[in-house]
Amino acid sequence: MNFTIATTLDEALTALAAGARPVAGGSDLVVGARQGKSPLPESVVAIDRIESLTHLDASTDGLGIGALVTHAQLESDATVVGAYTALADASALVGSPSTRNVGTLGGNVMNASPAMDTGAPLLVFGAEVELRSSAGSRRVGVADLWTGPGRTSAQGDELCTAIHLPSRPAGSGSAYVRLEYRRAMEIAVVGAAASITLAADGAVVSLSVALTAVAPTIIAVGGTDTLAGRQVDDALLADVAALASSQAVPISDLRASERYRRHCVGVMARRAVDAAARRARGESIAVPVNRSLGIGAAS
Ligand SMILES: Cc1cc2nc3c(=O)[nH]c(=O)nc-3n(C[C@H](O)[C@H](O)[C@H](O)COP(=O)(O)OP(=O)(O)OC[C@H]3O[C@@H](n4cnc5c(N)ncnc54)[C@H](O)[C@@H]3O)c2cc1C
Repeated sequence: MNFTIATTLDEALTALAAGARPVAGGSDLVVGARQGKSPLPESVVAIDRIESLTHLDASTDGLGIGALVTHAQLESDATVVGAYTALADASALVGSPSTRNVGTLGGNVMNASPAMDTGAPLLVFGAEVELRSSAGSRRVGVADLWTGPGRTSAQGDELCTAIHLPSRPAGSGSAYVRLEYRRAMEIAVVGAAASITLAADGAVVSLSVALTAVAPTIIAVGGTDTLAGRQVDDALLADVAALASSQAVPISDLRASERYRRHCVGVMARRAVDAAARRARGESIAVPVNRSLGIGAAS
């Protein structure tokens, strides 16, 4: 195996152009190889020492998150917790403290698991991924990035350098919840993220919902635009649950049947919208929602 360490972006892009695969925290790539899921690539370039990819940059346009920003940083960053709370909820649920300290947002996004926790929050925020190669750079919406389980539309020589989130309108709140059977070292059985903006009278201005682990990729729930103008009450939450359950296309496996996942994702979507609306109204619900509201595993 050929292993190199890049300390600059140019070094990493040169290695990628020569066929190397990037490794950031290694918590998917290396752990997966050790577990026998897939062998390590022939050529690997470590990117974790590229300082320029480790920053969060807030501006009036929104938030730029360097690809190497870890889940531990995201769950405690004031801007993420305050304005992009669903992403903090998701990062706070990833693995264990040690997983969150090495696992990066870029790695989670580029690994493209349908069960990735940050995916649904990024989708409801309309995130774009910045991809760079020796030939130049481009931005891709996350919905166009994920093409299947473990597959993206990125080329082999493209490195994810940052994830960009647009700024949030006043009156907005968001939340991510997942069904889990135990509290740590567990991936989502199903999950849902919601982003909502409310008018001063509490009516819905806009609502986005996305689902985890019920399709080959993270999926957005269609039809939530028809809920604009309504109050967030039991009737609206029931409509959200019905939309989510009807659009999910889950599989059955040893963790849950297709029917159970379809039902539970409606419950998760309803809870995510409820928590997002409560946050939009100014209620303080600590990160992650799962622990604050007792969703998922009890201990
Ligand atoms: C015990 C354990 C528990 C876990 N729990 C969860 C969980 O609850 N939820 C969850 O979502 N995930 C979980 N994971 C998976 C993993 O921790 C996350 O997906 C993490 O964010 C991956 O980041 P990384 O930097 O370690 O990725 P790496 O393993 O370094 O890379 C993952 C993939 O992305 C590619 N890649 C990495 N960085 C870039 C880049 N900048 N540009 C292009 N391609 C890149 C790599 O080539 C590789 O294919 C868990 C893992 C372990 C070991």
